[in-house]
Amino acid sequence: MILTNPTSIDLDIGAIRQQFPILNRIVKNKPLVYFDNAATTQKPQSVIDAISHYYSNYNANIHRGVHSLAEEATAAYEASRIAVQQFIGAAFSEEVIFTTGTTEGINLVAYAWGRANIVAGDEILISGMEHHSNIVPWQILCNEKNAILKVIPVLDNGELSLIDYHNLLGPKTKMVAIVQVSNALGTVNPVKSIIKAAHQVGAVVLIDGAQSAVHLDIDVQDMDCDFFVFSGHKLYGPTGIGILYGKKNILESMPVFQGGGEMIKEVTFERTTYNELPYKYEAGTPNIAGAIALKAALDFLNDLGKDNIRKHEAALLKYATAQLEIIPGLTIIGKAREKVSLVSFIIKGVHPQDIGVLLDNQGIAVRTGHHCTQPLMERFDIAGTVRASFAVYNTLAEIDVLIAGLWKALKMLS
Ligand code: PLP
Repeated sequence: MILTNPTSIDLDIGAIRQQFPILNRIVKNKPLVYFDNAATTQKPQSVIDAISHYYSNYNANIHRGVHSLAEEATAAYEASRIAVQQFIGAAFSEEVIFTTGTTEGINLVAYAWGRANIVAGDEILISGMEHHSNIVPWQILCNEKNAILKVIPVLDNGELSLIDYHNLLGPKTKMVAIVQVSNALGTVNPVKSIIKAAHQVGAVVLIDGAQSAVHLDIDVQDMDCDFFVFSGHKLYGPTGIGILYGKKNILESMPVFQGGGEMIKEVTFERTTYNELPYKYEAGTPNIAGAIALKAALDFLNDLGKDNIRKHEAALLKYATAQLEIIPGLTIIGKAREKVSLVSFIIKGVHPQDIGVLLDNQGIAVRTGHHCTQPLMERFDIAGTVRASFAVYNTLAEIDVLIAGLWKALKMLS
């Protein structure tokens, strides 16, 4: 996926950086170098403006009002749903449900789909590189239903063992829930063939797109996934907004998740009838500003072009990998053939957290620890890693700062 497209253009990274006010920050007397993009990306001015414009000009609750402000807010909220539909290639806008993020999307499916479809003895298949949010909801479901959670092993290079995957699939497999891009390793999983194989045994597939939606082209119809989830804040949008995509027939057949306003058609004390998609799964007042600003984030991505972004990020990944490998005692964890722009590493005899603190003292933000993938860390027999994850506004010069910062940190620790 990190292949260079021959038609791609060179982005003006300087101009892009100017759109991100936070990149002017000074941290510990040094210009900020922000390499924690897999945790959350920074926000362009257009996203910040969309939030402030909504609250300054047309703040109102959606769908229920007849006044002008409510109509304007509803129109902007629904325009964002259409933008998401186009961004992921969904067939119908009703298949796009606003959530608070990836975590809520997975919990919604585990709760609503899971409780209706999983019985004792059924098997749910996840992988050894899942984020906790794609482990724990399934564990809870399995415990409740006496179902069995099975795990596809991870190979030494950070790829999934597809041979094991095919062996684990069987008539009892009811759900395959897989991350498209690992947040800890950067691995891009071959989800299309994974989905095809799951469908052959009649299983439903959920793809965790938390890390992929920002880097890869997403086409849920071509992928043929049954559910796809992602978070706005990892693709230059705000926190507290995310998306659950589900195939219409599956969402329609599922029971409701949360009860409350908006998700109902009619309520009496005796019984309630439920609203149609997508509102059936959007109980209560949603994050209206967040949804509206998500469209601004998608516009930002679309304007730059994912091909162009990938080309730039591939150069960052290649350069960072080569520079890091020179450092004595450093091991990169995750060397999959297909990776996004993220490098996880350990250094012999040094605790990742110490490196993180010493880099922060130089204004460099990296993530250290288990990255919410404790079973994966156990698989590699490590407590955690240092993770540098790159976004479109990062530069090769910033990688030089990281490398110099690492040498300095190692000198201090020796
Ligand atoms: N899945 C993956 C692969 C992630 O990287 C993350 C966040 O880091 C999540 C799920 C959870 O996302 P959120 O905290 O936005 O719900």
